[in-house]
Amino acid sequence: MDRLVGAVILFGPPGAGKGTQARGIAGRFGVPHISTGDMIRAQVAAASTMGRQARAIMAHGGLVPDDWVNGMVEFRLREPDCHRGFVLDGYPRTTGQTEALERMLSGNGTGMKVIHIVVDYNEVIRRTTGRRMCPRCGTIYNIYARPPRLENVCDNDGNTLAVRLDDREDVIRERIQAYESETRPVMEYLRERGQPIHEVDGSRQPEELTAELVRIVEAA
Ligand code: AMP
Repeated sequence: MDRLVGAVILFGPPGAGKGTQARGIAGRFGVPHISTGDMIRAQVAAASTMGRQARAIMAHGGLVPDDWVNGMVEFRLREPDCHRGFVLDGYPRTTGQTEALERMLSGNGTGMKVIHIVVDYNEVIRRTTGRRMCPRCGTIYNIYARPPRLENVCDNDGNTLAVRLDDREDVIRERIQAYESETRPVMEYLRERGQPIHEVDGSRQPEELTAELVRIVEAA
């Protein structure tokens, strides 16, 4: 449990299962799961100045400015619970964010373990349109593949599940577009810098996928 985990980074299109997998890996290694999407949704819920602007950007499937997320992540990584490592979910998403992350990590010599969860386009649409999320505990369900025990109610805390503001089909197409144009090039950038990228098939059952990701993180 005390081993050094480093910076585990998950790439994959919307609906690839990054959130579910990041939680699984983080739980297994006892390190924090850091989701910039969750951080931004918290700002939206709090209706902060940033949150109000982010809401408008998210509603169209765009990306919020690099400076915002870089600042949030930098702040979070300074917390003591990150000392053995952490799992990043949804960050970095642009080359600018990747450069910022490299600077943050080089300060203390933390290595990256990069995983790309590969899922095809039709599956992405099915998963994102079927996604429901507990607004309190963040548990993610899918009405087709992983329904809650009671329709629209969280198994953990009984809260009514919500559809994410950015899971409408037209917004999802924009998010896929942002992924293709902004985030896919990040993997190219990292590869050119000699960073290994572990490609995994995201179409499998979540538990099976978590087991494979845990093996990759242990071996990397
Ligand atoms: P996610 O939950 O990771 O799919 O993120 C939901 C939305 O939050 C994205 O569609 C973006 O609008 C925004 N977002 C999350 N992470 C980032 C990031 N690293 N850079 C820019 N925008 C982000």
